[in-house]
Amino acid sequence: MSTLRFKMVEEAMTRKAVQVTPPAGRTSEYFGENVFNEEKMRKYLPKKSYDALIATMKNGIPLDKETADSVAAGMKEWAMDRGVTHYTHWFQPLTGGTAEKHDAFVEHDGKGGMIEEFSGKLLIQQEPDASSFPSGGIRNTFEARGYSAWDPTSPAFIMDTTLCIPTIFIAYTGESLDYKAPLLKSLQAIDKAATEICKYFDSKVNKVFSYLGWEQEYFLIDKGLWGARPDLMLTGRTLMGHESAKNQQLEDHYFGAIPTRVMAFMKDLEYECWKLGIPVKTRHNEVAPNQFELAPIFEETNLANDHNQLLLSIVKKVARRHFFRALLHEKPFKGINGSGKHNNWSLGTDTGVNLLSPGKTPAENLQFITFLVNVMMAVHRRNGLLKSSISSATNAHRLGANEAPPAIISIFLGSQLSAVLDKIENSTDEDVIVMGGKSGFKMEGINHIPELLIDNTDRNRTSPFAFTGNRFEFRAVGSSDNCAGAMITLNTAVAYQLTEFKKEVDARIKQGQTKQQAIYAVVKSYLGICRNIHFDGNGYSDEWKAEAAERGLDCETSVPLIFDQILRPENIEMYRACGVMNEVELRARAEIKWEMYTKKIQIESRVLGDLAVNHILPAASRYQSILLDKVFKMNQLFDMQKTQELASQDMELIEKISMHSKAIQKGVEQMIEARKIANKIECEREKAIAYHDKVAPFFDQIRYHIDKLELIVDNEMWPLPKYREMLFVR
Ligand code: ADP
Ligand code: MG
Repeated sequence: MSTLRFKMVEEAMTRKAVQVTPPAGRTSEYFGENVFNEEKMRKYLPKKSYDALIATMKNGIPLDKETADSVAAGMKEWAMDRGVTHYTHWFQPLTGGTAEKHDAFVEHDGKGGMIEEFSGKLLIQQEPDASSFPSGGIRNTFEARGYSAWDPTSPAFIMDTTLCIPTIFIAYTGESLDYKAPLLKSLQAIDKAATEICKYFDSKVNKVFSYLGWEQEYFLIDKGLWGARPDLMLTGRTLMGHESAKNQQLEDHYFGAIPTRVMAFMKDLEYECWKLGIPVKTRHNEVAPNQFELAPIFEETNLANDHNQLLLSIVKKVARRHFFRALLHEKPFKGINGSGKHNNWSLGTDTGVNLLSPGKTPAENLQFITFLVNVMMAVHRRNGLLKSSISSATNAHRLGANEAPPAIISIFLGSQLSAVLDKIENSTDEDVIVMGGKSGFKMEGINHIPELLIDNTDRNRTSPFAFTGNRFEFRAVGSSDNCAGAMITLNTAVAYQLTEFKKEVDARIKQGQTKQQAIYAVVKSYLGICRNIHFDGNGYSDEWKAEAAERGLDCETSVPLIFDQILRPENIEMYRACGVMNEVELRARAEIKWEMYTKKIQIESRVLGDLAVNHILPAASRYQSILLDKVFKMNQLFDMQKTQELASQDMELIEKISMHSKAIQKGVEQMIEARKIANKIECEREKAIAYHDKVAPFFDQIRYHIDKLELIVDNEMWPLPKYREMLFVR
């Protein structure tokens, strides 16, 4: 009998909520208490250092050594006042997740004692022994060393008793080995390109920010049940398990009452987030059972991304405190919704204008339409590249699978905005002249956008990239991903596009058109080009897949081949022109993506093989012996004919068990063979392709037979917690 499974189910059912009480008082009183924010800077830094640091944060002016020392000393004082003993550079390697190596403040004082020290040099730069972080060959070819360097635009914070300093991670030769460095460069690129366009409309604009508001989905599973599922433990998803008779079909979980144990967890999580200055705001149940969502108020993209990275580690930590495990995998369970991380993205000026929000005047609306259409153009031109930015072995189960968005990028606009764009596209040249004429700028139809879009109920949940009234929502991003992957690509693509746009507009102005005429004409011509990216229909339907292919959108579903996009000449050129990444960095990234893909599939394949052989087949075989024993004994009492009559159903099951067991055995053997062949391949790209084409197809095949056995074998003997237990026991 499967005692472990039943014990775990019982434990999970009787577990009490762990109530962690935040201090009495208002959230605003402890919000950001563990962050070295402006308030702390004022308190702990001399006025001169404070001013210099603010100038660095706001305008990127480099810090001199003296100021760096002074800032480090202030930070150390603040941290020690809060009981901190260690510091670490905190960075985001390309493997995903965050990395930290803690050093204590202590140093010999030269008199036999110890003192706490933290210099500007240690704050600004470190050389972590990070030789095992992936570099895609960069550090092998050039220099073995990698450096972490302080990013003053994201504030230092305290986790537990460690002062964490957000840093970029780069090779000795300057190539980035992380997500943050290219993200910062892409933010500079979009700032520069978008500010120039804004100047057509308002000379007072000097800076454009990219904003990100992420929505993070995750599952919670009781710790004991998780521990009894080696596949969840080692791969983050269930590699087998028959669907529960009830799962999400009644839609009774979405926005339903939050279970008590989960509520206690959420309160604790929010408390931890608020202390770290993460402005989390929304919490609710998601569509699938035991699936939940958390969303903060949007922030400037670099900070928002750091906050999401922080959250991913906090979620896991807090979940443990509540005897849960948080699943961040994109598809932990077959047959029910997976988890995404919607990236709400917009652009805003230093004058406080959201460039993706319809304005109140015709001029504001032309600016809005200009940015909207340029985003459409960028997404149209880079739809394959954008897909590569969110593709991974884990997200592949979500995209292109049965009940998720397809692996095709398209834009949803909604009927009102579509109508406005149609009007522009179909306007005559005369309309344009009238609009640019000296009677003032007048744009039929567009005047009405503000009123029209206030009622923003026009939602389409099947679109991977949806306009939602004042921002775009990139929904294809995976729950475990670093948002920066998507944000680097999107910001760079739009920056490049805006630069092209400016060239065209300027050329027309040179030829004598007014600014408005020129802008309007180029926007209009773009609408003719990028029409194909716009799709308001059901993105999950098969018809759309066929139509998207006809429209020439990228429909590739093989993840290793999707990564080829990164190295297409026009994309290399885009990153180069915008100063975001050079070819060496892109090649390294592609290598790492292929390598990571292979490793993930390889691990899943091993775990699946082990579980099939060591857990499933023995259980099936034990149950089969019981049936055989019964038939055998029956045959001793009755003659053969009578036995066959009485035990026909048992004999059928005996045969079925043999059939499925054989199929599993054979599948595992063939899968291992395929793995051996793939492992001999040197080229990372080819190896990943082999894993995709030759190894991964065995997963579903083997699983099919395992899931059939789950329906046959005596429930008491089944070793692994079942879907109904993992999804409904809490
Ligand atoms: P939904 O209705 O999609 O569930 P919410 O209204 O809860 O979304 O918002 C989702 C996220 O979008 C939040 O993080 C929110 O702060 C963010 N958001 C709202 N406006 C903007 C904007 N202009 N730019 C970027 N993110 C935004
Ligand atoms: Mg949303």
